[in-house]
Amino acid sequence: MDEAGYAVETEELVKTYNNICVVDHLNLRIPRGGVFGLLGPNGAGKTTLMKMIAGLVRPTSGRLRIMGQDAGQRTPALKKLVGLIPQDSNLEREFTVEEALRVYGRLFGVKPLDSRVEQIIEMFSLQNMRHKTIRALSGGMMRRVLIARCLVPQPELLLLDEPTVGLDPDVRQSIWEIIASLRNAGKTLVFTTHYMEEAERLCDHIAMFRQGQMVFSDTKAALQQKIGYDAHDLEELFIRLAREGV
Ligand code: ATP
Repeated sequence: MDEAGYAVETEELVKTYNNICVVDHLNLRIPRGGVFGLLGPNGAGKTTLMKMIAGLVRPTSGRLRIMGQDAGQRTPALKKLVGLIPQDSNLEREFTVEEALRVYGRLFGVKPLDSRVEQIIEMFSLQNMRHKTIRALSGGMMRRVLIARCLVPQPELLLLDEPTVGLDPDVRQSIWEIIASLRNAGKTLVFTTHYMEEAERLCDHIAMFRQGQMVFSDTKAALQQKIGYDAHDLEELFIRLAREGV
């Protein structure tokens, strides 16, 4: 596959903080379309990698390409292609839901904005919530609005950092449904989770990280063949890799 065929391609990508390497000469390819799971223990560097892909953190060295384009030059068109749904809400708490969607759309020059916002409100069943202030939302609804907002500019690549952490089973299920429908719409989704059942259920491709390095990256089908895994096997593998790195 040529470079344009990958949603993300890194070459010897490095990020150091205070001389500590948290992403360590990473060579990673994320295919276009489908759900790509980034797994690994706390502190493995997953969020840092996502932030570099989203353009929020500058790599220390190495090469990063997104949708075939050099990410060193964040053109407005490239910025529009990538959406990050962070671990913690960064929604302005005094906005209403509708204002949050509008302001974000304006930031990306979305036109026509009114119809796009209406589309998103409908898509996410936010009709009864549109005038609620963000600070009044439950954790689950907040997560829903975060995902909805990210989609206003119609990004092709979505980065979801632990999107279901702390949510009740019903809300978690609704987030899974959103992820599945975005996948079916041809988007590329990269997500992190510490729930192996979730990874097993949603991912087409799984990469495991440890101490800033990638231990493996494989399709779910290939992993199933190699280790014949289900969610339990994946959990065992995770624990072994986290403890021993083998
Ligand atoms: P988790 O699963 O807990 O979210 P993670 O795999 O996402 O972990 P990161 O959040 O990327 O890991 O952190 C990787 C390492 O980088 C950690 O040791 C963390 O303390 C460090 N780190 C992250 N951001 C900064 C920063 N801004 N300054 C200094 N160190 C940082």
